[in-house]
Amino acid sequence: MRARCFDEQWPLRTAFVISRGARTEAQVVVVEVSDGDVIGVGECTPYARYGESVASVLHQLQPLLKEVADGLTREQLQLHMPAGAARNALDCALMDWESKKEGHQLPSPSVLSTVQTLVVDSPEAMAGAAQTAVAAGADVLKLKLDDRHVQERVSAVRAAAPDARLVIDANEAWRAETLLQRCNDLSELGVSMLEQPLPASEDAFLETFEHPLTICADESCHTRDDLPKLVKRYEMINIKLDKTGGITEAMALADEAANLGLEIMLGCMLCTSRAIRAAWPLGTRASFLDLDGPTWLASDVEPPLRFEAGRVYWT
Ligand SMILES: [Mg+2]
Repeated sequence: MRARCFDEQWPLRTAFVISRGARTEAQVVVVEVSDGDVIGVGECTPYARYGESVASVLHQLQPLLKEVADGLTREQLQLHMPAGAARNALDCALMDWESKKEGHQLPSPSVLSTVQTLVVDSPEAMAGAAQTAVAAGADVLKLKLDDRHVQERVSAVRAAAPDARLVIDANEAWRAETLLQRCNDLSELGVSMLEQPLPASEDAFLETFEHPLTICADESCHTRDDLPKLVKRYEMINIKLDKTGGITEAMALADEAANLGLEIMLGCMLCTSRAIRAAWPLGTRASFLDLDGPTWLASDVEPPLRFEAGRVYWT
């Protein structure tokens, strides 16, 4: 077995703005494993919020590539590397290699729904983006918000898209003092779910807080180790392979979360279609799927997945 890793930059078609800041390109790290016959590919997106960079992930992967050459299996990998982007790329490369070795099959189902993300902007601009998305067939909109103009932005989007299901992602930007009022407002506007309103470090507040709508853990949920705390604080968890450190732990996390009565959202980072293919096996387990990362890129890998009208089609 041979393994190698390298980074890639994928310019976005338009800036991706969330509460933490703006991005104009996706920076990913790719791992390829090969037995000289079949090549397995995995991709990850290093995330500064979790102390990761392209350089740190490449550095983390180097010694493991040699272990793969010496016969390290996907099961062993889980014990050799912590959860995070680096393990994700390698885990998914090994999984891809295994499934190709077994004879590649069209996944079932071959189409999944996905939310359409609206990035932080003025209420008017977000309403315009909502209208465009709904006209293109989207039926679930995910609004990125920061701590300002929450009511104005959500009201504007609701007016522009009266029939769409709405979910909100605050990316840890809100405060405990204003949470109840905000949740009541969102609930009145028919918002279905609120993702990670508070900083992960302030999660304990949610334990004694009555939830007027479903609240989903994203930054607070990485692996199964987080579940005992989360179960008292959230109704839903957002599973992303870059946090779990690959599809292997992601599947185990989904099983254990379901056993605990937590709903599942399947999410992604800014990524190419490679990363969405890797997460596909979890597609039928989730109440919400947020897989539109590749639609933000100016161009995608070949062959790309096809995104159309709030759906993503395996190609
Ligand atoms: Mg999120």
